[in-house]
Amino acid sequence: MSRPASTTADRSQPRTWVDNAVRLIEADARRSADTHLLRYPLPSAWGERCGLQLYLKDETTHITGSLKHRLARSLFLYALCNGWIDEHTTVIEASSGSTAVSEAYFAALLGLPFIAVMPSSTSASKIALIESQGGRCHFVDESSQVYAEAERLAEETGGHYIDQFTNAERATDWRGNNNIAESIFEQMRDEAHPVPDWIVVGAGTGGTSATIGRYIRYRRHATRLCVVDPENSAFFPAYAQDDPDVVTGSSSRIEGIGRPRVEPSFLPGVVDRMVVVPDAASVAAAWHASKVLGRRVGPSTGTNLWGAFGLLAEMKAEGCRGSVVTLLADSGDRYADTYFCDEWLTSQGLAPSAFESALTDFERSGRWP
Ligand SMILES: *Cc1c(COP(=O)(O)O)cnc(C)c1O
Repeated sequence: MSRPASTTADRSQPRTWVDNAVRLIEADARRSADTHLLRYPLPSAWGERCGLQLYLKDETTHITGSLKHRLARSLFLYALCNGWIDEHTTVIEASSGSTAVSEAYFAALLGLPFIAVMPSSTSASKIALIESQGGRCHFVDESSQVYAEAERLAEETGGHYIDQFTNAERATDWRGNNNIAESIFEQMRDEAHPVPDWIVVGAGTGGTSATIGRYIRYRRHATRLCVVDPENSAFFPAYAQDDPDVVTGSSSRIEGIGRPRVEPSFLPGVVDRMVVVPDAASVAAAWHASKVLGRRVGPSTGTNLWGAFGLLAEMKAEGCRGSVVTLLADSGDRYADTYFCDEWLTSQGLAPSAFESALTDFERSGRWP
């Protein structure tokens, strides 16, 4: 006679470690301050007089130096609360950039090993930054191999592949919890035009644009969302042609944004407009803003500003007053050997000087080519 099938299965485990891990992340957030919303000085001759304002959400002041600090915190909480990470888990990510730096910080906070899977071409300074946060770097020959290698490593180590490109949009609390959108609208409250006409962001995972786009709809704001995209990125053609399967076969030259494939976290349905920005124009705008602000900004901030300037000129031409908000995503100090180095720019075939006159013209007249 066969035994009757059991109707109860119990896999409950003590949650002491997970409870404490969540507490550590919450405590870290509580000790941290929110990032500033800076006013970007537009020339008084046409900016102030026409009632136009530009703001920069300064994401460089996070402990790990970029907007990826928010993402890493959300990804760890999401994984912990989904039961994907415990005290024995090796945490693995496919990233050579700022995400790995921020995730290494949170892994160290929880006492977990962290491995970043990255192309062997990754610069020594990036590797040093990840290692200084306690992370380990694992190399592959081609950048297209990072995803499969991260999955393989997770299997081999019994670890967890945190997968920013899939999980960015779902790990972030889009309704609030002081996400980047709620923080921007809160900080804008006492401004002359508190509801921005436009928010301008780039897309790497697409998580930031997804969070802002959803929040705008949820709070029923009139703000429109503009996503700026560099050369060689699949996001723009996918959006323009309404085809999520576009692949470009080459990598973005603007660190942090633009992808060769449409990442799952990019949600085109919440984006009102997309604009392609030439790579050399992004660099020219990053240089220009670095002079105006007296501090170096990263190249994706240049892309953001190029897009924001175009929208402000459009508003001015139409006689509108109002505000535009964009992001200072990371500091230019990370790029002294690349975007702020003439030899490197030449080696990449990037000539920002060709775009300087457009910026000078805009400063003078508020007009855009
Ligand atoms: C990741 C990143 C972005 C884009 O943010 P996503 O939320 O991933 O789309 C922009 N700039 C920099 C410097 C980044 O690291």
